[in-house]
Amino acid sequence: MESYETLLDKAYQKVKVVTLSKDRFDIPKVTGQIEGKATIITNFKVIVDYLRRPADQVAKFLQKQLASNGKIDGDRLIFNTKMNSQKVNEKIAMYADEFVICPTCKKPDTEIESDKGIKSKHCLACGARSPLKQF
Ligand SMILES: [Zn+2]
Repeated sequence: MESYETLLDKAYQKVKVVTLSKDRFDIPKVTGQIEGKATIITNFKVIVDYLRRPADQVAKFLQKQLASNGKIDGDRLIFNTKMNSQKVNEKIAMYADEFVICPTCKKPDTEIESDKGIKSKHCLACGARSPLKQF
């Protein structure tokens, strides 16, 4: 029989392992370049691959959030206005929070489910389902 203190120690150890986990979700930062009046996100594909979401879906979200028209060009995303890449990073983080990361276990192993037009995020790691906000 283990003492209460030993159990408590074990619990703390478990918590530590989780927070120090190396496979933390760390989205690549955008690399952008300004060309004339356009902003080109040159590593757009790297980012959507990391998020494991369709490029057009991420692009649509960013265009709406950044109030700028954009188009996908191969591995790149081109906006028709000048943009601060920091701002784009913020919106990508926002996308990840809403559409990728499980609010229960904070893991990115989720898929989007649609039931009678209501979309929810289903976590493959812990099984939690959470409704999506509409953007
Ligand atoms: Zn989860």
